[in-house]
Amino acid sequence: MLKINLSPKQSEIVNLREGAFLVEASAGSGKTRVLTERVKKLLEDNSSKILAITFTNKASEELKERLSLDKIKNKNIFIGTFHSFCQSILESRFKLLGFQKMPHIFEDEGDRIEIVEDAIKSIPYFTELYKKKDVKQKSSFKSSILDFISGVKRTLVEPEDLLTEEDDEHYITLFNEYQDILRSNNAIDFDDLILLTYKLFMNNESVQDLYSQSYNYIFVDEGQDLNKAQYYLLRALCGSNIKNVMIVGDPNQSIYGFNGSTPEYMQKHFFEDFNAQRITLEENYRCSKKVIDAANKLMELNVEAVNYVIEGSFQIYKADDELDEAKFVIENIKRLINLKSHKDIEGDIDYSKISILGRNRFVFKHIEEQLKESKIPYYFKSGNIGIKFDTIFMKLFDYYLRIKINSSDRLHAKRLKNLLKIEDFEIEDQVATSKYNYFSFIKKVIDDLTVDNFKKSMKTLEDYIKENNSFSEEDKVQISNELEGIVNLWVTYSFNTLKPTLTGFKNAISLGTVVKNIKQEGVCISTVHTMKGQESEIVFLIGLDDGTFPYYLAIDKGGEELNQEKNNLYVAFTRAKRFLYLTYPSIRKMPWGDNMRRSKSRFLNHFN
Ligand code: ATP
Ligand code: MG
Repeated sequence: MLKINLSPKQSEIVNLREGAFLVEASAGSGKTRVLTERVKKLLEDNSSKILAITFTNKASEELKERLSLDKIKNKNIFIGTFHSFCQSILESRFKLLGFQKMPHIFEDEGDRIEIVEDAIKSIPYFTELYKKKDVKQKSSFKSSILDFISGVKRTLVEPEDLLTEEDDEHYITLFNEYQDILRSNNAIDFDDLILLTYKLFMNNESVQDLYSQSYNYIFVDEGQDLNKAQYYLLRALCGSNIKNVMIVGDPNQSIYGFNGSTPEYMQKHFFEDFNAQRITLEENYRCSKKVIDAANKLMELNVEAVNYVIEGSFQIYKADDELDEAKFVIENIKRLINLKSHKDIEGDIDYSKISILGRNRFVFKHIEEQLKESKIPYYFKSGNIGIKFDTIFMKLFDYYLRIKINSSDRLHAKRLKNLLKIEDFEIEDQVATSKYNYFSFIKKVIDDLTVDNFKKSMKTLEDYIKENNSFSEEDKVQISNELEGIVNLWVTYSFNTLKPTLTGFKNAISLGTVVKNIKQEGVCISTVHTMKGQESEIVFLIGLDDGTFPYYLAIDKGGEELNQEKNNLYVAFTRAKRFLYLTYPSIRKMPWGDNMRRSKSRFLNHFN
């Protein structure tokens, strides 16, 4: 970690010992830095037992990196997301929650939708209702049910508490059916991880005591993103034992309202429940003056006001269309790289100092094509740092491993059958054949798989691929690479885990906590959400047309939803250390094929 001189205020926080502290300060003021330094300081004392919670795996990895903990198993600290912390607890306590075996995590949206569909089919009231809907309505109906289910779990209420209308008691049945189907697959969803751990603490005082005695310092980064379930879990964990809790956050960066998060849990509840001391940091150590001014100006804006044009001086590029927008970005990347250095930028200007951000992934389509054409290296930043099980081979591997180690998993057994169906006309014959080759191969490997022979079995594998005449040369290369990826994950997982199990491995993959050690090189492309907490010397923020950023649904809803869009834009601006380019297309091709005229984001009227 680069040696920096902390400000007196920052040092004061780093040297704090006992107590509850709320560090509430704006982007780039060094909140994460101070948190890290304080953790580091406390670790010098062997009696410190620390729990540090972040909101993404990526942030956890960065914290470990900043603390140089990546190679060491340090018994005195647990760094992870709420989900990974809960998973580690449930792994040894699942029996107390009525499970015979550790449940598997159904993390995938598609899996949850399938469960909702099954639940609908088993309740005549919903079967009838569903039948009458067209395709689009069916899809939004299922999403709204998932939102309802998550809402119940994230606010720690009973389903009936979220219902108002007369015939709504059917939703209670639906909620229960969804839970029953999950249970019958010996599975839980992401929200259950938090909810069940909370229940575990509430119903078992001895377990709660045990865990609260395991830590004497707790840290939470990005505290504005806490939702009710997470905050209550935190409070339950602390019990009467843990008094030393530090939460750092910035209410202006609250962008997870759709997850039930609100800065109130940090600002009001934590502050009052823990009698916390509120500390602020004034200085911004990240961004250039111009970026700070722009970000501050943005925050002055009242989202509901119509006439808020204020004189500003920020550069905005109005592109003809998305292609022109992409070309503008590429030309500027080339120009900056040719500059080689700049007085405001430390070290050489290379691709790693450049990021392209957008609200949603769809805005990157043309950029990606242009980067490829210009042979500029790039990568997509992912919040989840595991590997993707998205090729046919990996899907087959995933499904078969799941059903092999969780015989109750009917959902993935069905998926597997569907994937192997030959009468799928969309899949060319050749692919269909290779699916079978892959599968008989995968089956053989997984059938032999145990924790002890994981690596050995995979290797013998590799021999089998070489000898196997049914694979094309291309197949062989692909399978070898993918298997190697899985072995690498296993090595990382088993190295970091006291008692490795196949279920633990699968769940760690589902949570994205096993890191694949690939160095990502080139220009970084990322959504604003994924870039939270991080920084880049040069930022291109694209797709700033009204309807894209802010998103049209948030514009329709207005109020707090629109405010969250503004916060999201604030997060985007404040990722930039030196240069920030803002662009939008005047014409956007919509998903249904029409070209639509677009005007610049309402938030940018601020900078005319
Ligand atoms: P965000 O709200 O975006 O998460 P943050 O408040 O957590 O921001 P950090 O990421 O901790 O801010 O710090 C921003 C940058 O400023 C980092 O590069 C950090 O190393 C640097 N920094 C923090 N404090 C100082 C300091 N006293 N002197 C110089 N640089 C500093
Ligand atoms: Mg931070």
